[in-house]
Amino acid sequence: MAIFIFILGTVLGSFYLVVATRLPRGEDIVKSRSYCDSCKHQLKWYNLIPVFSYVFQKGKCIYCKKKISLECLLVELIAGLGFLICYLSYGFSYEFFLGVVVFSLTVVIYISDFKYLVILDSSLVVAGLMTILIKFFYLGLNQVFFSVLNGLVMFLVMFLIQKMGEVIFKKEALGGGDVKLAFVIGLILNVPLGLAAIVLSTFLALPYSVAYMYIEKNNEVAYGPFLAGALMIIFFTMDKFTILLDFLFSWH
Ligand SMILES: [Zn+2]
Repeated sequence: MAIFIFILGTVLGSFYLVVATRLPRGEDIVKSRSYCDSCKHQLKWYNLIPVFSYVFQKGKCIYCKKKISLECLLVELIAGLGFLICYLSYGFSYEFFLGVVVFSLTVVIYISDFKYLVILDSSLVVAGLMTILIKFFYLGLNQVFFSVLNGLVMFLVMFLIQKMGEVIFKKEALGGGDVKLAFVIGLILNVPLGLAAIVLSTFLALPYSVAYMYIEKNNEVAYGPFLAGALMIIFFTMDKFTILLDFLFSWH
C-alpha cells in the first residue's frame, strides 16, 4: 500500500506541475496532449511515467535530446514522498486525506506563484471542495458549516489587511489570490490556527522579500508560497500549536 501511495503521489505531482505551469500561460490542459517543452513533440504514455521515464531517458527528451528540467523529477519525487509521509504518519484517516489536500495545494501554489505570481482559482476551488467533502464525511454537516464560517472570517481578515496595505503603500500590496487563499486556510484550520498561519507566513516571507527586493530591484514578491508553507507547517504540527495557543491564551 505504501508503494502504491508513493506512486500515486508521483503521478499527481507530475499533473500538478503541468497544471501550475500551463494554466497560468492560458493553455488548455484537458484538450491538449502532453508535449516536449523544446521540440513540441507529442509525448507517448511511456515518456510520461513519473520518475522512471526521466531516469531511463537519462533526463533527455528522446525526440530532440534536449535536457528535461530537473524540476520535473524533483516535483514528482517530493509529491511521492509527501503522500508517503502522510500515509505512514496517519494511515487512512481524516488527517491523511486532509494532509494530502494541504500538501497538494502547497505544491501547486509554490510553482505557480513563484513562476508567474499567480495563485490559480482552480487550485483553491478544488482544495476547498475536497476539504468540505472530507470534513463532511468524517465530522458531519455542522462542522462543515462551522469551517465555512471560519473561512469567511479569515477571508475578511485578509481582505482588511489588503485594504490597509493599499492605503499605507498607495498600491496593491497583497494579491486577490492571497485573500482567497486565506478562505481556504480558515476552512482547513479554523480561525485561531488560521491566524497563527498568517503570522507565521509573515516571518517566513520577510527574509525572502527583503533579499528579493534588494537583489532583483523588484517589489512584486510572491507571498502565496509562504502562506501555503505556513498552512502546511501548522497543519502537520497542529497538536503542538494548539497546546501553545492554549498556553498563551489561558489566564488561570
Ligand atoms: Zn523534445
